[in-house]
Amino acid sequence: MRSFSHSGAIDDLSTLDALTTGIPFLHGCYQVIESAYQAYINNCGSPQLKAIGLSLGQSVCLHKAYEGGAQKYGLDWIPQLRDVLVGSCPMCGSSTLGTVEHYLPKTPFPEFSVFSWNLIPSCASCNQKRGSKHVNGIVCQLLHPIFDKVLLGKLKLVTQFDTAGLVTQFKLGFNEQLFNVREQKRIAAHINMCVDLRAFKLATQVQISMVAARVASKALVDWKSVIQAELAIMESANVGYGWGASCLRGLLVVSDVELSSIVTPKIL
Ligand SMILES: [Zn+2]
Repeated sequence: MRSFSHSGAIDDLSTLDALTTGIPFLHGCYQVIESAYQAYINNCGSPQLKAIGLSLGQSVCLHKAYEGGAQKYGLDWIPQLRDVLVGSCPMCGSSTLGTVEHYLPKTPFPEFSVFSWNLIPSCASCNQKRGSKHVNGIVCQLLHPIFDKVLLGKLKLVTQFDTAGLVTQFKLGFNEQLFNVREQKRIAAHINMCVDLRAFKLATQVQISMVAARVASKALVDWKSVIQAELAIMESANVGYGWGASCLRGLLVVSDVELSSIVTPKIL
């Protein structure tokens, strides 16, 4: 999964000032929301933060401000957020984007509805899969594309193939050896909470078919060099974060016999 930098040009506190001045329901809320924003940054968006308990009316106003993306509140950057990254979802690695995700969900955290550190481009399927589950009580905190930049910089997805049965099974793994046990658990929990398995399986089948087309006329001993070259192109084109590259990495670590059993059925 990929990381990104916070846009320093976005001034959340000016937005908060405009909202709490301009919307009667939010009058008097500036201080309490501003402190919550500060706590969010100090705690890297921890789901253990306590919600401040805004009223239903106040929550609805903040949700509407988010949905509207109004320029008068300095929120016109929100609709453009989904275009920030093209190529792979920062939460799951799929190749489709299209929605904006609230890292800490709008329920029970309406105070972070328009907070730029809390809004992340995400694909629709993993956004829907997570829903509002990322709250107090979860075992591991989701990876945050801004706060977890160092960890994400080391993370590479590697699809794991199991060819023992009649049908090849595969799942989304990663380069575990670069992480301590706590980090490994957190990354695995993130994958479990975000990845839409149906979409992942489909994307992997498509990638295997593409590999099959490339290697069809070549001897088995040359297949891995073809796959390696394809992976190098993906990584240099900045699409090495996604499921396609993950599939190629996984194919590079299986034996030639296993590689043949995975790819050959796709050669028409
Ligand atoms: Zn996703």
